[in-house]
Amino acid sequence: MQSVSLFDGRTERALTRPALPVLGEQKDIRYYGSRAKSVLNGTDVTKMGFWSINPYVGCAFGCAYCYARYAHRYVIERSVAAHPEQRQLREAFESLPLWLAFERQIFVKENAADVLRRTLRFGSDKHLNLLKGEGIGIGTATDPYQPAERRFRITRGILEVLAEHEGLSVWIITKSPLVTRDVDVLRRIQRHNQISVHISLITIDRDLARRLEPRAPTPESRLRALARLREHGIEAGINVMPVLPGITDRPDQLEPLIKAIADAGATYVNACALRLRAAARQRYLPFIENEFPDLAARYRATYAHSHHAGERYREGLHRYFKKVCSRYGVPFGHDDDDEDTDPQAAPANWQLALEF
Ligand code: SF4
Repeated sequence: MQSVSLFDGRTERALTRPALPVLGEQKDIRYYGSRAKSVLNGTDVTKMGFWSINPYVGCAFGCAYCYARYAHRYVIERSVAAHPEQRQLREAFESLPLWLAFERQIFVKENAADVLRRTLRFGSDKHLNLLKGEGIGIGTATDPYQPAERRFRITRGILEVLAEHEGLSVWIITKSPLVTRDVDVLRRIQRHNQISVHISLITIDRDLARRLEPRAPTPESRLRALARLREHGIEAGINVMPVLPGITDRPDQLEPLIKAIADAGATYVNACALRLRAAARQRYLPFIENEFPDLAARYRATYAHSHHAGERYREGLHRYFKKVCSRYGVPFGHDDDDEDTDPQAAPANWQLALEF
């Protein structure tokens, strides 16, 4: 994630302004204003082959498997180091474990739209390549429609800027039906650009979702959002990511999910098994110990030497999705194993047949 400048120290006003202004609080969440120097993260930063924009740092949805906590930690450590005089700031951060600070101390990139507008208007040749069709993902590290967006409207501001341009390829990743608030802007962008909305949904079991993604919108509300986007002609699909081995991967869980996705009119489904890099591991493995203790030993063994689930497991998952998506007439997009496999080859009880 792009580094964030936390102190606007150049103006007189800034001299009397706290280095990290508190914009407000909502229940147990505190919002800090930050001044971004740049909001477009290049491929060299993302390592993902596309550009990314994240309007917020930190995410209130608090998914147990979230992989994005590392960026928040970096911003906190930088801000505390830069402003040792702000004792209260340091104490606020130190009062929470880092994984929880990610969910409760949210940084709002207040100037993101202005910075993006300047970049796209006066940017370097590298930035201007965006206008020739390179991809921009919004929400790759935090949800751009988390509750903060209802108040601060940073994501909407960014979309307004993108709507001023042509030839872009943009996609949004979110768990929130709040994205439908911006259907008008999405339609304007769509006139001269490609845009799609990936809604993340890993289960339609409301209680299970609450355990795994405690503050995220309900599965039903996400499916309704998908249907609404499709009614307005916006390309929208579902990311079943991550599939959690032993928790959300039974055929009697996945097939109703895929059916519900197809019924809501999704233009595609993407899926991949849980990847457990270091930042996610520190939160997820203790979570498994507490919530799913019977699975703890298998998880530890599976992810002991790699952040991937086993190859057989991933191949089985791929085949299963291809087969069931084909059955319900919804295209299966891509996953982490983009190989050509025969959908008919998936065993009926593949979960039981595989070790993850
Ligand atoms: S919605 Fe995304 S960014 Fe937010 S906690 Fe969940 S996985 Fe992390």
